[in-house]
Amino acid sequence: MTQAGAIMRAWLLLGAAAIGEHAAELTELDARIGDGDHGINLDRGFSSVVERMAAADAAYLDAGGLLLLAGRTLISTVGGASGPLYGTFLLEMAGPLAGVELLEAPILAAAWRAGAAGVARRGRSTAGQKTMLDALIPASEALARGTRLVEAVQLAAAAADAGRLATVPMLATKGRASYLGPRSIGHADPGATSAALLTEALARAVIGQMGEGTEASR
Ligand code: ADP
Ligand code: MG
Repeated sequence: MTQAGAIMRAWLLLGAAAIGEHAAELTELDARIGDGDHGINLDRGFSSVVERMAAADAAYLDAGGLLLLAGRTLISTVGGASGPLYGTFLLEMAGPLAGVELLEAPILAAAWRAGAAGVARRGRSTAGQKTMLDALIPASEALARGTRLVEAVQLAAAAADAGRLATVPMLATKGRASYLGPRSIGHADPGATSAALLTEALARAVIGQMGEGTEASR
């Protein structure tokens, strides 16, 4: 397996585990400003991703192939808005990563930027509307600032979490939370929270595959 494929595989597995561990919390956040299904939705989708990745025909998929499989799986198994949006995110990331064997910061930044742009297009949304984009876009900008891959993903994880926190005082103008109007203020957005968890899982996947501060992490 290529380094890029190993990192993407590790990311999807760690991401699925993080969503599973935090499913109740994500659902609780969604109960405050949505319909209380975000954790359930994503846990169902990511559990299916893990199952499909374990199948024999997925054993030799490269980075791009794994993301296509994961994206399609989320779109077909998650009922809520977040399934098609995260599915689009991963499908759009797959394009720039197709054929990439060695993941480096610039190509990961380009892939993530394409993913976030896909979410914005599909969701007809933008930063500042209290959605997953408020974590995904800062993470994208942070990835572009990193020169080494490990540094880039650590910056991205911190930026995504700051983005999650910044959704608390925001007024939701997209998705179900927008139905609440000003009552959406004062709660973290569930999608920004799951996006921060997934970004943090990416940092752990990269560090786990490369080791922090080693020659290989350049
Ligand atoms: P649903 O809203 O259908 O119940 P989920 O609860 O799974 O779906 O996901 C809700 C999350 O999806 C929100 O917290 C928000 O981050 C994200 N979301 C909803 N609509 C949009 C949109 N148009 N653009 C970007 N993200 C969105
Ligand atoms: Mg919901």
